[in-house]
Amino acid sequence: MDCLQFRRQLMAEPRSHDPQLLAHREECPACQAFWLRTQHFEDQLEQAMDVPVPAGLADRILLAQATDARRRQMVRRRGWLAVAASILIAVGGGTVMWRQAQSHSLPVLAVAHMPKEISALALTAAIPDSMVTEGFAERGTTMRGPMPLHVTYVHDCQVGPYRAVHVVSRVDGQPVVALYMPGKMTDKPEHFSRGGWTGREIPLNDGTLVVLAQHASPDALDQAEAGWRMAIDGPGGPSLTSI
Ligand SMILES: [Zn+2]
Ligand SMILES: [Zn+2]
Repeated sequence: MDCLQFRRQLMAEPRSHDPQLLAHREECPACQAFWLRTQHFEDQLEQAMDVPVPAGLADRILLAQATDARRRQMVRRRGWLAVAASILIAVGGGTVMWRQAQSHSLPVLAVAHMPKEISALALTAAIPDSMVTEGFAERGTTMRGPMPLHVTYVHDCQVGPYRAVHVVSRVDGQPVVALYMPGKMTDKPEHFSRGGWTGREIPLNDGTLVVLAQHASPDALDQAEAGWRMAIDGPGGPSLTSI
């Protein structure tokens, strides 16, 4: 073993007891000095590394790893919850929009309902106020004011999904239909014109009133609206807000 081999082996294995290595150490003073320095350095290194390990360190490291893994799992799960929540919100929003679409189709439903009772428009004889009041009472509406003049027809009807009171009154000799159904389908009066009918959809009390006619003037619709508004809302109700 020469000096280079000696030092190379000593660097790789400072505490080696290889007989060849030890033999070279004995015969070479330079390598013996190198060996001593190496041993001294090794001693210092071992001292520095000789730190007492706190009790339970291994357990704490394992616990920290497990906790971290669990936390990442929770974050992932929360991510999914957020996705699920946003889907629910989207579906809920869709339902609201669907309801709004439904409410805007009330004039469509009202006009579609007309052919079934078109013959009611030909009636000219006024019916007693009590019949009208009873018709509304059957649909859960107590009249607060006097009935409009010259009501010729009252009937319980199903207008699309809504249970309605279907009435006809004569204004200036022309029949004007009114459909009153519980539940607010609109926030403000809306006029419509479709299928040869003109009319308006009005929020009234806790319900919705639709007045419509085929040949009546806007003035006749105003009068019909005012009449039913007075009957349903009473004299103390909000004043006519026709637009
Ligand atoms: Zn040597
Ligand atoms: Zn009807």
